[in-house]
Amino acid sequence: MKTYRSWSSYLRERFGERVHKLCLDLGAGCPHREGLSRGGCIFCDERGGGSGAALAGIPLEEQIKSGAAAIRARYKAQALILYFQSYSATNLPLDRLAEEVEKAIRLTERHARIVGLAFGTRPDLLPEDALDYFDDLAGEGLDVWVEIGVQSLSEESLRWLRRGHDVSCVEEAVKRCRDRKFFLCAHLIAGIPGEDDLQLARSAAALASWGVCAFKFHPLYVLRGTALEEEYRAGRFAPLTLDEYAEIVASAIASLPEGAIIQRLTADAKPPRLVAPLWVADKARAVARIERRLLALSES
Ligand code: SF4
Repeated sequence: MKTYRSWSSYLRERFGERVHKLCLDLGAGCPHREGLSRGGCIFCDERGGGSGAALAGIPLEEQIKSGAAAIRARYKAQALILYFQSYSATNLPLDRLAEEVEKAIRLTERHARIVGLAFGTRPDLLPEDALDYFDDLAGEGLDVWVEIGVQSLSEESLRWLRRGHDVSCVEEAVKRCRDRKFFLCAHLIAGIPGEDDLQLARSAAALASWGVCAFKFHPLYVLRGTALEEEYRAGRFAPLTLDEYAEIVASAIASLPEGAIIQRLTADAKPPRLVAPLWVADKARAVARIERRLLALSES
């Protein structure tokens, strides 16, 4: 029995079949990495949170062909949500983004059915014309998701993470999206130095009250080549243990209103790209531990 509304069960309820996300990398870049004075978030590696396909020079057509085939073989899913994941999708000029989206839809339709689109971005990179564009796409009968990297609603944490935006920027972005036709998903991180065990729950509950309906959680983990790796190796950052993370994330989920969708319970990274904590590499074990903790909370 699930003690939370998982993404897969939500998709099955909504579409009556198995649906999977296909992650695509347009090489959109991120203004926060590229500005000379900014340097990017402390945890961000060269792939900008994605597959690294654009960096490796893999064209969109190939990403779609091999990705759709892998999803069919592994998950038996015929229906897809195209997820423009890496860096910040809205960093592309809007006409270029629209062109890439149209192209991706055309190419995917040769291999699978598309039921939705998802766009990953930052709260300070959501101009009004992008919101109108997402609304138009949603008006064409596709489910459209905008995934905002929030990470925390603590000002100190945002500064420590070197996010380059503050809490009011997140609040304004979420509230501007509230009466639109698309859905909002927020990404949140547990284990930021200086946060107490309930900060994740406070951040998630506030976002839900502003109109976010889905969440992706992960612990703060160290990737090779990041500024966070330097902090970790200098002994200035200690990652959470799996038990600590399970406790924090279960409390956050318990603080959400009924119906909130949990798109991700933990991260997905493996060595050698992953430096620490190594429990992140065993996702199935981490998920089982969190689900056990959720069950215990629901019975208490
Ligand atoms: S906003 Fe995203 S892509 Fe940009 S630096 Fe931060 S984590 Fe990396």
